[in-house]
Amino acid sequence: MSRRKPRPVPVPPEPLGELFDAHTHLTSCADPARALMDRAAAVGVRGVCTVGDGIEEAEQALALAQEDDRVVAACAVHPTKAQELTDGVRERLRALVADPRCVAVGETGLDTYWITHDPGRTAPLDVQEEALRWHMDLAAEVGKPLMIHNREADDDLMRVLADAPSDLTVMLHCFSSPLDLAVEAVERGYYLSFCGNVTFRRNEELRQAAARVPADRILVETDAPYMTPEPFRGARNEPAFVGYTARLLAEVRGVDADEFAATVSANARRLYGLPE
Ligand SMILES: [Zn+2]
Ligand SMILES: [Zn+2]
Repeated sequence: MSRRKPRPVPVPPEPLGELFDAHTHLTSCADPARALMDRAAAVGVRGVCTVGDGIEEAEQALALAQEDDRVVAACAVHPTKAQELTDGVRERLRALVADPRCVAVGETGLDTYWITHDPGRTAPLDVQEEALRWHMDLAAEVGKPLMIHNREADDDLMRVLADAPSDLTVMLHCFSSPLDLAVEAVERGYYLSFCGNVTFRRNEELRQAAARVPADRILVETDAPYMTPEPFRGARNEPAFVGYTARLLAEVRGVDADEFAATVSANARRLYGLPE
């Protein structure tokens, strides 16, 4: 008999009036999308933006968005797969992004983590930058927001994004950078989306950043199946758990949780061009 305490089975938080998971990966979660969305809806999550991180996954994400009213999609090739952005893939992405159920170009961006830890698992930085610039032009062309992935690439990312056309809307998903970058991003008018790591004990600076974002620029997301918020850190994540992060953010910002949930939902709908 094992003496180890079994890990608690994660359960969804108490419902909130209305929530929107601004960045998730339904096709990477264990259960079918409909079951995930039903569980999410039961605790107030009315909508999610599901993201494909490669061309096949992007096609699957869009197919889900076409099947389920509660789902919209973001399509791109992830920076760690930037070498897969061939001419043929670019053409396929153009077609996906033109679809009304695709509401953002992403996730694209820069990721130096794997370059440092296991370069065979990712694309070189110059290839990532070229792919980011291509996605940036595509977003500007179709008039949809650019959804950014950033892992340990703050300076390069802000340098490249500074070249974006002024009317391009930028959203930084899973914001995890220092406070000064949050301040600069806010000055540039970007949306900042916070995920489960903002609930982790050691991330005090991230909570300070979250407290500084204007009410009309803050979003909440799961990035499921990763980044499960406390109290279930380490378990498999799903959109139904986004309320844990929303409640923590409301507390940090000193606002009522239901009011905050309504605010982030309205922000997500505005960002993605969805009806009120
Ligand atoms: Zn990401
Ligand atoms: Zn993601």
